[in-house]
Amino acid sequence: MISTPEFGPGMLGPAARPDDQALWDPAHQAMDPSLRRELQDRRVRHLVERVLRTPVPLFAAKLAEAGVTAADDVKGVDDLARIPATVKQDLRDSEAEAPPWGRYRFTDPRHAVRLGTSTGTTGQPTITVWTRKDIWIEYESGARNWWRMGHRPGQVITHAHPAYLYGGGTMLQQCYEYFGMLSVWVPPPDTDELAEQAVRFWTRVRPDHPFMGFATGRFVEVATKLGISLEEAGLTGLKAPIGFGLGRGGMPLMTAGAECYSFVGGPCGVSPGAHLHEDWAVVQAVDPSTGLEVPDGEWGNLTVTTLDRDNGLLRYDLEEACAILRSPCPCGETSARGLWGGRFKDLLSCQGTRFQLAEVEGVLRGVEPMREPSLEYQILRPDGGGGDLVVRVEVASADPAVREGARVAAVAGLSETLGVRAEVQILDRDTIPRAGYKATRVVDPGSI
Ligand SMILES: [Zn+2]
Repeated sequence: MISTPEFGPGMLGPAARPDDQALWDPAHQAMDPSLRRELQDRRVRHLVERVLRTPVPLFAAKLAEAGVTAADDVKGVDDLARIPATVKQDLRDSEAEAPPWGRYRFTDPRHAVRLGTSTGTTGQPTITVWTRKDIWIEYESGARNWWRMGHRPGQVITHAHPAYLYGGGTMLQQCYEYFGMLSVWVPPPDTDELAEQAVRFWTRVRPDHPFMGFATGRFVEVATKLGISLEEAGLTGLKAPIGFGLGRGGMPLMTAGAECYSFVGGPCGVSPGAHLHEDWAVVQAVDPSTGLEVPDGEWGNLTVTTLDRDNGLLRYDLEEACAILRSPCPCGETSARGLWGGRFKDLLSCQGTRFQLAEVEGVLRGVEPMREPSLEYQILRPDGGGGDLVVRVEVASADPAVREGARVAAVAGLSETLGVRAEVQILDRDTIPRAGYKATRVVDPGSI
């Protein structure tokens, strides 16, 4: 007879802890930094040993390039600088050469329990698999983030992440469940009908924390259209989404992508940046020409080595900008903090200036007639030359004076903030196509 283990709460979730405890996992989050470094060194050695023993051909080839042929050749974090980075295209190429999994897995993919693909906005989506342990590391990392933000088990939370092959929605939903929150997963507002379904449901089960995500503006827009009060739907007290864009100073580094480390860190609100979960990753800002870390506070390539997972990544360069801050933080957490500076491939260039889409968005958001009830805009992809930056933005008001005032304010704001000359075109509401998740904001000039 097969005996079934007795059900216990520890089987599905973490042990309870006092609500007034400062950190979710003080043993790791407030660890003596020198002990944490020793832990990282041990885990880096273990990762290298597994690359060689398994073997994991893609990473073994990178180690060979660095002259590493035995586990003893690597002592710890300092030796990572010698190892060539791996980028997304390497994973894509590996999957194309040895379909479908490629040659970079540490386990048989059938030993994993979950699969997800990247969104594939820049080419064929790559496949990520997670074992139970890999998922548990993400859940614990997410729990540190929610706890730091003041969320507690017993609260009602909501999100509208896409699901199915795109693994992000499942990861977020189950991470909330693991933490102990009641998560209301509404559909991404791809259509007005789907948005309405979510907004009406929130009037029945009101989340303790307002919806926050890429689609916030869509929900506000549809609620307004339907005459549902934002208060009733819990859509008041909204803050700008965290980590989805950047000003000149960068945003907290909260994710290193679903394929690498979804919940790599989170902000404490005391010091700038996001506390990084360094016991489970070496997060570095690297100068790609030397492989070395740039000085603290300077921008480099976000390069992550995940630690202690069944399926890891070694020296994975996300081709995004990050900066690392190591000054002690008074909040009590002893880890380094990370700032995110956006994807290099998303940088826009015009009139000799390089800038991020989010910086344009920040200016438009400052113009009231453009942000009410939600900001909807597009930019024609600049060709890097000296022409005007063309921005198309909706304004709800039909009053010509309001529309002209908004246009003039946006032109002045873009000139002042980015130093670029812009042509701002004012459109009627509902001119620009809507999206349930990430809207296409930069469009090719020939496409409209
Ligand atoms: Zn802190």
